[in-house]
Amino acid sequence: MDLFEYQGKQYFARYDIPVSPGGVAVTVDEAVAHAEAAGYPVVVKAQVQVGGRGKAGGIKLANDADEVRTHAGNILGMDIKGHTVERIWVENASDIEEEYYASFTLDRAAKLHLLMLSAEGGVEIEEVAERNPDAIVKLHINPVDGLGVDVARQAAVDANIPERAIDGVADILVKLYRCFVDGDCDLAEINPLILKPTGEVHALDAKVSLDNNAAFRHPEWEEYSKTEVLDEREQLAKEKDLQYIGLDGTVGIIANGAGLAMSTLDVVNQVGGSAANFLDIGGGANADVMAAALTVIDTDEKVKSIFVNIFGGITRGEEVAKGIVEGLQRVDLRAPIVIRLDGTNAEEGRQIILDAGIPAEKLTSQPTMLDAAREAVRIANGNEVGA
Ligand code: GDP
Ligand code: MN
Repeated sequence: MDLFEYQGKQYFARYDIPVSPGGVAVTVDEAVAHAEAAGYPVVVKAQVQVGGRGKAGGIKLANDADEVRTHAGNILGMDIKGHTVERIWVENASDIEEEYYASFTLDRAAKLHLLMLSAEGGVEIEEVAERNPDAIVKLHINPVDGLGVDVARQAAVDANIPERAIDGVADILVKLYRCFVDGDCDLAEINPLILKPTGEVHALDAKVSLDNNAAFRHPEWEEYSKTEVLDEREQLAKEKDLQYIGLDGTVGIIANGAGLAMSTLDVVNQVGGSAANFLDIGGGANADVMAAALTVIDTDEKVKSIFVNIFGGITRGEEVAKGIVEGLQRVDLRAPIVIRLDGTNAEEGRQIILDAGIPAEKLTSQPTMLDAAREAVRIANGNEVGA
């Protein structure tokens, strides 16, 4: 789950990372009230989950209430790269001497945490990586060892952070790492991390992505789900209470059980296709759930075929079959379905589907998971023969 900048800053503050005082507003009047409280000059910042807000006109300095009114009025409702600005963050403006970059992520391949640190912040880090890769220090951290202040200092030295900012940067790195680990982040990024003329080091922006798997440890995350930005498919899936994750491929997937859903993704890959989603309908394969699942998947225009992979256990084959037949009566799908039905009462299920007389261009049945995957991928790839 991705946080907005203002939520990220509030998250940072819990770990003692210095951020500017401010408040979030949905109206111009609220923005002025926050500006008065934070003290002028202030910076008015569009809250959208996309980078480059400054260039898009979504970040403005204001010296008095009139300027806050003007900027807040312009920024609220603005479109930034397809995101409509519904909220703005107003904070006391900082004087900037230098801009740095710092982030922690998980390096899955190395099975270690990764610190990235650069003295060239304030621009997208991908840009720095391209133009001057040596300007980014990458340091793996073993979670068992953690990150101490000495290692953090050395990283700052290696990144050519100037002497007078070293202590401040190292201190924030240690705190940001604690935020990343204890706060269960997938990403904790500060860009820019600034050096003020006073010598203080300070987080001017916050990009935080939380690891949803750790939500059970964080009842306080509940508030973020109210403002969570989901794509259209994910929004629909959430409303319908489905275990759905959107992906980029062309084969829609419905399976019962998370394990089977994962293997279905693998098999689709193995035969040369790519999954459009992960969707586990669990034990509830009735018509309601099936119709909801089919609707969500079919909303995605990239989907060219839908692979329904059911291994009946507690979920019985004839129930799944009824669910699909009824579901198909309710929703008119663009993409054809390929179904593999096995396990408890699979025979009865297949008979129900046969008796329903659904035309073959809408639904076909395949005896095995591999056959069904091949057929779904063949359709998705425009009838070319897969692997
Ligand atoms: P992003 O471009 O969407 O990542 O937005 P940022 O929050 O990183 O801000 C972009 C740029 O706006 C920063 O790199 C700064 O140059 C400038 N900026 C943001 N806040 C302030 C501030 O308080 N004072 C000054 N002088 N500039 C700021
Ligand atoms: Mn930024």
